[in-house]
Amino acid sequence: MSVLSKKWKYINEGNVHIVLCVIDTNYVIRLIKEDGNMTKMETIRNSVDFVNLVMIPLLFGKRVYNEEIIQLPIEDVAELSEKLSNIRPKHRQVKSIFSHFAIKAPNLTTISNNCENYCLEIKPKEGFICRHFKRYQKCYYCLKQFLKLQEKQIDGISNYCPLDLFSGEKTRMKRALLNLIQNPQNNFKLFKDGNIIYSEKSKIDFEMLITKLPIFRSINIFLDFIIDILLSDGTSSIILNESDGEINLKTGKCYEDSNLKPNSFLNKLLTLQKLSETFNLDLINKNEDYEYVSKLLNDMKELNMDLSKSDDREKFLGTINPKYLVLISAVAKDCSIMICFSPNSHQSYSSVKIGDKSLSYKLSVTDLEPKSIKSLTKRKNTEKKLIQLYEKMNGKIVINSTAFRNPSQTIRSVAAIDC
Ligand SMILES: [Zn+2]
Repeated sequence: MSVLSKKWKYINEGNVHIVLCVIDTNYVIRLIKEDGNMTKMETIRNSVDFVNLVMIPLLFGKRVYNEEIIQLPIEDVAELSEKLSNIRPKHRQVKSIFSHFAIKAPNLTTISNNCENYCLEIKPKEGFICRHFKRYQKCYYCLKQFLKLQEKQIDGISNYCPLDLFSGEKTRMKRALLNLIQNPQNNFKLFKDGNIIYSEKSKIDFEMLITKLPIFRSINIFLDFIIDILLSDGTSSIILNESDGEINLKTGKCYEDSNLKPNSFLNKLLTLQKLSETFNLDLINKNEDYEYVSKLLNDMKELNMDLSKSDDREKFLGTINPKYLVLISAVAKDCSIMICFSPNSHQSYSSVKIGDKSLSYKLSVTDLEPKSIKSLTKRKNTEKKLIQLYEKMNGKIVINSTAFRNPSQTIRSVAAIDC
């Protein structure tokens, strides 16, 4: 399949993929970066099967969309590499060789080419307090903010706590979203027709942006709209109920008190995230990388498991090697939720009724590729660092005993103790 014969646009890139939008189509192409070694077809096949056969059915109970492998003409790959060198960020160009295999995936930021499309991307991160942090009553995300500040990866601590978003309680969920709007980092983006119009790098007046749309007369209704979708099963039509708009943005505490309905999308995501809690990371073989993916897929094939069937999902989660579950959990903790909506009504999509208006929405999830076993070792090391940082700060801070409870005070404390 040739990409160059079509109009295309560079969207963004991570460590492994470059995403290109193919204009006037409903799909994107993910180019695969090669780091000196040619990527084996089997590795790409396993990654695509992991997304299609494991992660999507576990999250949605069915295969709501599919990724597929395509082959690009060799001359296209060379020309794309050259053309992209003028567009890509310089720090990413250390990897400029691409595989002639690529992944064709649905464009999750649009509903249809014939209408105005908006898409909110939320990277919610870990929505519970993991067992190693229970005694500190802090979640991984909130603790990591302090490490990121110390390492100058961020300019300021975010008041967003994933436990607020996963609480199922509207006031707390609203607080979570407002804190993400205030300090988006890489956890919050808004797209219009596939282009980013709000993010960490392009912060504008979000309220004005939203209320300019013909659908939302206030930011409060927009937040209710997003929350109702997250609390739904992700595929049903919804009638929106406007809730109270008075929110206290700061708490500085991580409350683990979740009241999510069992069939809600957020509950399904949280359940997958919690799969890591029963496995001891010390039992991991550090020499392994991605070998487990083919073993997992083979085990499923041998047992004839189809995870779009509820019985098979139950059997899978109850009997499969716990090491696989912890790797599925790692993906669920780092994925992004995409809520795409259009003011125009589309019959093939579910709707949200707001007063006498109705709009279509599509809920999907991206970044579902398998993680390497090495990422678990990295996580273990980061946990140790976070605990050391927490204990160092709380041990040294005598005057300000509320450190880690009041982020603004703690920013000063970090600077003062230079830890
Ligand atoms: Zn937290």
